[in-house]
Amino acid sequence: MASQEIEDLASALARLPGLGPRSARRAVLWLVKHRETALDQVIAALSAVRDKLVECESCGNVDTQNPCSICADPRRDVKSICVVEDVADLWALDRARLYTGRYHVLGGKLSALDGVRPEDLSIDQLLGRVEAGGIDEVVLAMNATLEGQTTAHYIAERLEDFPIRITQLAHGLPVGGELDYLDEGTLAQALRARRPLS
Ligand SMILES: [Zn+2]
Repeated sequence: MASQEIEDLASALARLPGLGPRSARRAVLWLVKHRETALDQVIAALSAVRDKLVECESCGNVDTQNPCSICADPRRDVKSICVVEDVADLWALDRARLYTGRYHVLGGKLSALDGVRPEDLSIDQLLGRVEAGGIDEVVLAMNATLEGQTTAHYIAERLEDFPIRITQLAHGLPVGGELDYLDEGTLAQALRARRPLS
């Protein structure tokens, strides 16, 4: 029987995506074994995340500064906004280094099943950014899932009356696929072949 401390750490880790109770316990054992070398590093990285990371008020990205380093970068195209479901999708797209505009993180996708409504996502904030002017293009980079596409169509409708181009990632993306899991080549191709959403 493990000590309470180990049980607590294991159950905290078991809540992480991709880690069940079994893997969490293995991770804890590994950390205990390597407490001289690896544990301090993990603790330092975790407290840096807790102390330094903030959500960008403009786009919803997570960074050590607000506005985030993407929004604050003068070399980025301020006329283009790429809308993604989650921060992980933003990071995946930005790793591909092909898109030079700015982003907007919705914080999820519309879902009747999970009770996610438009007002639960940052859609009004997106409209506010477009309304403020100076935007030529909105790229809808939702996941190629039913809910992702429903979300894209809903946003396209809300943006209908603005004099902007609304484009969508081409469906070279596998159906049911999530951006975060794609290799950079597939992502790059989908981004290059983006097309108007009619
Ligand atoms: Zn930002």
